[in-house]
Amino acid sequence: MTDKTFYIETFGCQMNAHDSEKVIGTLVHSGYTQVETPESAGLVVYNTCSIRDKAEQKVFHRLDQFKRATGKGKVFAVIGCVAQQEGERIFEKAPHVSLVAGSASYTRLPEMLVQLEAGARRVTGLSLDTEETFDTPFTRRDNPHRAYITIIEGCDKSCAYCVVPFTRGPERSRTSESVMREATELARAGYTDVQLLGQNVNSYHDPSPAGWDFATLLDRVGRIPGIRRVRFTTSHPRDFVKEIIDAIDENPALCNHVHLPVQSGSSRVLGRMQRLYTRDEYMRRIEWMKGARRNIAITTDIIVGFPGETEEDFQATLDLLDQVEYDSLFSFKYSPRPNTAALAMEDKISEEEKTRRIMIVNEKQRAIQIRRNSGLIGTIEEVMVEGRNEALGQWIGRTSQNRTLNFTRPETDGEPLTGKYVPVRVTRAGPNSLVGECVMSVV
Ligand code: SAM
Ligand code: SF4
Repeated sequence: MTDKTFYIETFGCQMNAHDSEKVIGTLVHSGYTQVETPESAGLVVYNTCSIRDKAEQKVFHRLDQFKRATGKGKVFAVIGCVAQQEGERIFEKAPHVSLVAGSASYTRLPEMLVQLEAGARRVTGLSLDTEETFDTPFTRRDNPHRAYITIIEGCDKSCAYCVVPFTRGPERSRTSESVMREATELARAGYTDVQLLGQNVNSYHDPSPAGWDFATLLDRVGRIPGIRRVRFTTSHPRDFVKEIIDAIDENPALCNHVHLPVQSGSSRVLGRMQRLYTRDEYMRRIEWMKGARRNIAITTDIIVGFPGETEEDFQATLDLLDQVEYDSLFSFKYSPRPNTAALAMEDKISEEEKTRRIMIVNEKQRAIQIRRNSGLIGTIEEVMVEGRNEALGQWIGRTSQNRTLNFTRPETDGEPLTGKYVPVRVTRAGPNSLVGECVMSVV
């Protein structure tokens, strides 16, 4: 391979988006230049997701397109969760691929690139047997104001539907010192908003003698001078402790938003899913949040149509939505995944029934969001300005509760506000966003 240009496309979650930032940094440090289209690249990288079947199919579709089109002379790399899950089978399905590497092997990326440059046709990084995390000083961040920080990789849970433990390997926490160093450097570079990432951030355990737990790490990151907002995702209810809420109450830099995936409102289904909590135990965590001094927004993930989910189980999920009144949620139809325990379970739910259930969930949630968002009309929210919608003449802001709040500020249109913090009065509300007007000075 002589052409050291690369194109990368990322599928899936924030973990993947951030992995790509680190992979891009590593490639650039190895002498590569990023280009905007696969057509103009010597190396085409797909960072893949296999959480649901649809996500997995996307990469094979892309690879197929290039087999027929401009594939000749290019080097193709499939990295991430599909790479880990399918391994060398990818070479059979798509013979024009030369590199297959899972996220647990990214520390070996520079050496794998050397092999590709030497003309190797089948390079793999597929071992999950690692205690390392992928830390690199070369991360190329997409956004100059908001930054991701990985604090824990992999997952030691075994939810019956989930492929992540097989694609990202066992749990590995970074030392608190290296997380604090990264956050401090980000603050010095002008970042004010950071998001701590992991499949289950609540089970963070500092491997160094300091031995910080997640709540301590969260609080300390929020006390770094210059850091104004700290978010974290994802939480697992089993490991979610009251100290996290206490930290949010004590420390205004910690955003008043918790994403706490429930998956189902039925304890019977939760048991079959091996989620390790009951509905009552989950509700106890919700009560901690509702009892907090700060107004904490709560969001969740729901899976409909898990094998054996009866109409009664489904009704329990709908009832939970009414009981919690989530500020937002992600809903998914159960998708059978390789290696997982649920694959062998009986009483599969038909596609039509899953579609019916997800539509009911979404409709109910939409009504809840309209109600909750309307309740904010007249209040003043501080937003971090993320950009501008020229067509609408509006700035795009995000509240601490993670709502999108688009606003106008007529007297200063044209002044660059992106990255600033602005107080905005909410004037209108829709199911998915708010509209308002800036009320005071900008800081
Ligand atoms: N580790 C996080 C957790 O425990 O919630 C996130 C895992 S996953 C990237 C995000 C969401 O995808 C899950 O919360 C779940 O709702 C959904 N999901 C995972 N596996 C799925 C499957 N096989 N079918 C449908 N949805 C799935
Ligand atoms: Fe998957 Fe469960 Fe681990 Fe989340 S906690 S990544 S859903 S196995």
